[in-house]
Amino acid sequence: MAIKEYDVFVIGTGTAGKNVAYDCAAEGMKVAIADNREFGGTCAQRGCDPKKVLVGITEAMQLSENLKGKGIVSVPKIDWAALQKFKSTFTDAVPAATERDLKKAGIELYHQSPKFLDENTLSVEGKTVKAKKIVIATGNKSMELKIPGSEHLRISDDFFELQELPESIVFVGAGYIGMEFAHIAVRCGAKVTIVEFGDRPLSPFEADIVKHLTEASEKIGIEFIFNAKVSKVEKLRKNYRVSFQKNGASASLSNQSVTARMVFNTAGRVPSIDELDLEKGNVAFQKEGISVNEFLQNTTNKNVYACGDVSASGSLPLTPTSSQEARIVSLNIRKGNHTKLNFPPVPSVVFTIPQLASIGMTEEEAKKKGYDFVVEYKSVPKWFNAKRTNEEVYAYKTIVDKKRNIVLGAHIISSEAGEMINLFVLIMCGKLTCGNIKQMIFAYPTWGNDIKGMV
Ligand SMILES: Cc1cc2nc3c(=O)[nH]c(=O)nc-3n(C[C@H](O)[C@H](O)[C@H](O)COP(=O)(O)OP(=O)(O)OC[C@H]3O[C@@H](n4cnc5c(N)ncnc54)[C@H](O)[C@@H]3O)c2cc1C
Repeated sequence: MAIKEYDVFVIGTGTAGKNVAYDCAAEGMKVAIADNREFGGTCAQRGCDPKKVLVGITEAMQLSENLKGKGIVSVPKIDWAALQKFKSTFTDAVPAATERDLKKAGIELYHQSPKFLDENTLSVEGKTVKAKKIVIATGNKSMELKIPGSEHLRISDDFFELQELPESIVFVGAGYIGMEFAHIAVRCGAKVTIVEFGDRPLSPFEADIVKHLTEASEKIGIEFIFNAKVSKVEKLRKNYRVSFQKNGASASLSNQSVTARMVFNTAGRVPSIDELDLEKGNVAFQKEGISVNEFLQNTTNKNVYACGDVSASGSLPLTPTSSQEARIVSLNIRKGNHTKLNFPPVPSVVFTIPQLASIGMTEEEAKKKGYDFVVEYKSVPKWFNAKRTNEEVYAYKTIVDKKRNIVLGAHIISSEAGEMINLFVLIMCGKLTCGNIKQMIFAYPTWGNDIKGMV
């Protein structure tokens, strides 16, 4: 059989892979793309978008709860099955629409994981294909927990497929996915426990601000078990038993357990690279993913580029960073290596209620890096925006460079923190001073206007 040849072969049809494929095809290159799952990637089908649909309904409920007795008579109830059906109106059409659009752009499709045969050759669907450039954009997948009974653990993909919400759920891991799902599940009526290895949730985020979220989560009924290493999962008649070892507890107390109808592994995500036979392609990789240089080109095979969650570029594994990396890869493939990875400050949001949003340095990072800075940390539930929606939690921490009077980091917890942090993107990327911000006029009464009081 004749060997098919392409200018560019992309592996993965998520935000990163799709964007590279479109750009290269638009330039007149012969492009193919492969995926071993439904086309369209994580964000649109099993990540950001369906999650935000579920969160949106709980936000409507929470606002009513806040204003009950203040004009709201009764709090609406959530119909889980109807909510999942609504969510499916966003996700179900994604694979067919993605395939249709890729084909329309002249891109050839493969529905299997390719395997490297050598530096420029892949085996896919029983065929041998050659490409001048190969782009790895296979994203992340749930990290396997190597413990007895791990087969009983469900992952984030399964959460979106639940036709019925279980009475009780244990989440193993209090990262952003565990925290967001816990908030959805508890507000929809499940009893929720989170078992976490560390001594607090969301370890990369600003500790003082996370403290407010931990308290708010406990208040709505989420039970945290911190400093606990899960050791085993067993199937009982109706429930699962999750055993864990508590750090620092006496021997008799160190082995404990919690039971629930369902257990989710939300302990983290790792690069999806096992099926690619990277060694045969001379493609270097590391724990964080495909090893890349500043052009997002593989460090050992110069014909290979990597972008999105799977690249070990050091950027946060998020949708906007994945599309930014895709832009860099496609430019470097089309125009030669001229565009370097140079990320501006990247905001990141935990879509709990209230939301926790963050950009730039935490106080600890600023200290470690030796900056001379001023910190402002305040709890402000008395500010008008929180008062009118009767929210108990509203706090912020800003870190400002003393000499230059510019923002080094901003961390907010509020129902609108996700929108507010975008203003800090403009402030930090535009290198505006706090004086500049104070002089600006923002619409009132808006949450955005509050940022003037934060710097
Ligand atoms: C539950 C959840 C919530 C999230 N929420 C947010 C959020 O609110 N905001 C945000 O910015 N980010 C969020 N993310 C992260 C975001 O989804 C990812 O950063 C983004 O989707 C990465 O895009 P990507 O193109 O790199 O990878 P993906 O979108 O994961 O695409 C990779 C594709 O490669 C395919 N693939 C994998 N292995 C192979 C193989 N061997 N062969 C062929 N194909 C393969 C996969 O099937 C997939 O289609 C969330 C993620 C999850 C799981």
